[in-house]
Amino acid sequence: MKDANFLKANNARSLWHPMTAPSDSLKNQPTIVTGAQGVRITDVDGHEVVDAVGGLWNVNLGYSCQPVKDAIAAQLDTLPYYSIFRGTSNDKVIELAEELRAFFAPDGLVRAFFTSGGSDSVETALRLARQYHKIRGEGARVKYLSLKKGYHGTHTGAASVNGNANFRTAYEPLLPGCFHIPAPYTYRNPFNETDPAKLAQLCLQALEDEIAFQGAGTIAAFIMEPILGAGGVIPPHPSFMPGVEKICRKHGILLIADEVITAFGRTGAWTGARLWGVKPDFACTAKAITNGYFPFGAVMIGEAVAEVFESDETGRAAIGHGYTYSGHPVGAAAAIACLAETQRLNVKDNAAARGAELHAGLLALQSKYEAIGDVRGGHGLMHAIELVSDRASKAAPDKATAGKVQKVAYEAGAMVRVSGPNIILSPSLVLTAEDVQVILSALDAGFAAL
Ligand code: PMP
Repeated sequence: MKDANFLKANNARSLWHPMTAPSDSLKNQPTIVTGAQGVRITDVDGHEVVDAVGGLWNVNLGYSCQPVKDAIAAQLDTLPYYSIFRGTSNDKVIELAEELRAFFAPDGLVRAFFTSGGSDSVETALRLARQYHKIRGEGARVKYLSLKKGYHGTHTGAASVNGNANFRTAYEPLLPGCFHIPAPYTYRNPFNETDPAKLAQLCLQALEDEIAFQGAGTIAAFIMEPILGAGGVIPPHPSFMPGVEKICRKHGILLIADEVITAFGRTGAWTGARLWGVKPDFACTAKAITNGYFPFGAVMIGEAVAEVFESDETGRAAIGHGYTYSGHPVGAAAAIACLAETQRLNVKDNAAARGAELHAGLLALQSKYEAIGDVRGGHGLMHAIELVSDRASKAAPDKATAGKVQKVAYEAGAMVRVSGPNIILSPSLVLTAEDVQVILSALDAGFAAL
């Protein structure tokens, strides 16, 4: 490893960080992580903390998952790469597709299309949704609907369905034909509705209204995260996603579940679709599929969509889409090992148990600190603390407030993530009850320091 001074001096000089203003990197030194064990990371100065971010919602099995490391090493020795473009395949990707088919069978998802990450998976689902309609002779169905506050990645298609101006404005004009409806965000919503069940109904009505306004025959798909993640961990009322599914079915609109965060146990259920009891037409996955150790993703495809593509012989179903790294054998080997470990350790149940402890602890912090306006979570290990400057008016906090909490929490033993006014927690699903307490006491120190 290069020494600490070299790393600190050269970071901003040599690279641009995603989701960061270059001028900010020049002024503020990032935390330079140089090692990790279990659920803990170590920085360049030797400070070790519990990673309450879990990498970036992806290191579900922690940093010491030996079977995944071994699978990657073994695959590099056997077949480090081969493409699966027309005319070739590789053994690992076939094995993985079979495993995924079994894993996603309860969600009605029966085929896999492989990608290099979450944005790729979203792009793939958006494109295949349009193609599905074209194969069926409904070529006018080209528009996409999504939720405000949703996050689907950064490719132009994904950014166009994103519901947050931060990821859009600088890159406009985006894809035409993308429209957004209000998210079922109980703490703040345009209806001033505080009852989650009633709010879900209002948002569903907004979806019906938008479909009527656009014309159902012009809409290809509706895309949503089963629990909004980057937008601030916003779990909808249980009636919401089934309601969306019903509306989509009624109007012939495909439902894309963006499960990049929620698949593989994070919510306390194996998938977000299963959490809410829906059967989407596509599920976009990435992140935890390889525990963050290899860039990889998969779009799972529903039975009805698969049927339409597979029965067409006119040429319209030829997939003119794919990535050099679609079906990468090293990623596939990592994913096979990961899926086996995920199920062997039954991480969804630990996510639910540790998540409940974390949630209770965060609510206790909320009763202690005025700066905490809202605590969200309650489904596995994904939580957000929304900061306010005044609880009664819910006025936004000073921009620096969440950063101050983060800094002190880090010194006190836990890495947490700041996103706008939110502190986001998405630790590894192999977290222990003791780790939960470390995170809570670090946050307590962070808020106490305000
Ligand atoms: N969809 C969701 C729900 C995500 O959370 C993310 C990443 N945070 C993406 C898509 C994009 O994934 P990636 O960063 O791997 O491209």
